[in-house]
Amino acid sequence: MTAAENGFTSVEIATTHGSRDMPCEIVTDGLVIVPAFGEDETGTSVLMGGFSVTHAPSGRMVTQSHACLPCARMTALNLANTGVDWASLQFTGQEETKAAVGNRMSAVTAAMAEFEQCRHVGGAR
Ligand SMILES: [Zn+2]
Repeated sequence: MTAAENGFTSVEIATTHGSRDMPCEIVTDGLVIVPAFGEDETGTSVLMGGFSVTHAPSGRMVTQSHACLPCARMTALNLANTGVDWASLQFTGQEETKAAVGNRMSAVTAAMAEFEQCRHVGGAR
């Protein structure tokens, strides 16, 4: 994560086509909200109209789809309040992540379920 004096901090997002520097809104030390993006047919980056909750240290998306901004903010706050230490969590793999989240998994799953229920982003899901 790159600190900014003013404006947005940016976070490096890991994608299948390499990493992308994206502006983000910091929710907590370790969790940020990032505009959902993709690529058009020429490979140019395009915004998708939604937002995802992203693990800032790894640049990996915590949420697997995108939601509207209020739903993304609510989910990120709920995830921050699960007791998971997102700042030191390492996304080394699914099993390792599960082990690090441990008995907070049900709270994380509940927060993610609310995110998945967002129907405010038209056509982007
Ligand atoms: Zn929503």
